[in-house]
Amino acid sequence: MTDREAYQRALRERSPRVRERIAAAAVRSGRDAAAVRIVAVTKGHPLAVVEAALAEGLRDLGENRVEELAEKSPHFEGRGVRWHVIGHVQGRKARGAAHLAALIHSVDSLRLAGKLSRLGEAEGRRVPVLVQVNVSGEATKGGFPEADALGAIARVAELGGLRVLGLMTMAPFTSDVRTLRDTFRRTRRLLEAAAGIDGLEGRELSMGMSNDFEIAIEEGSTMVRLGTTLFGERPG
Ligand SMILES: *Cc1c(COP(=O)(O)O)cnc(C)c1O
Repeated sequence: MTDREAYQRALRERSPRVRERIAAAAVRSGRDAAAVRIVAVTKGHPLAVVEAALAEGLRDLGENRVEELAEKSPHFEGRGVRWHVIGHVQGRKARGAAHLAALIHSVDSLRLAGKLSRLGEAEGRRVPVLVQVNVSGEATKGGFPEADALGAIARVAELGGLRVLGLMTMAPFTSDVRTLRDTFRRTRRLLEAAAGIDGLEGRELSMGMSNDFEIAIEEGSTMVRLGTTLFGERPG
């Protein structure tokens, strides 16, 4: 069996269960499961995982490093992949991110926002982004602190070279359901509070990973970023 077949077989077993869990979480909160998109996180996995994901009908794929995205994406040109950048983008990688990603989830500074906007303006287009917020206050997590978030969203949304489609957050690494729910709920409330901001064009909420996606969906997530639960542990 090739790598690709092995991944495909494993994914074929796992993905129906993941889709069921998404649907059940949507139902519990009176939402439509179709409003929740899976961003399949292929970071740390070989190209065979991307092939398996495509075979399984997953088209939204996430990478957290622009370098890794730049290595993988040329292999899948013309295959209908929408790449998502979900990790911190260093200034010198902004150009690569803007060119390769269908959506950058992790705009975590005004400096990065400005840089991406200038790239967009120079090319006569608007780069689709989410504003990353850090409502848990953990120093190890990126994003604008909750107290500054509305101001930051307004500053980012007024930049002419960006399309600001919503917010992204990462919950603390914990299994404490109350903490997780609180993080997602506060992020949703920020989006609601931001609704009147000029230039905020979307209502996307990128929140939820393998260990917390059901809670995120119950709290309004429209994009869950799933790696391990779809593909297993990352090698190495
Ligand atoms: C790696 C990563 C994920 C996926 O994590 P899993 O726990 O494997 O689902 C989601 N979001 C971000 C920002 C990541 O870096």
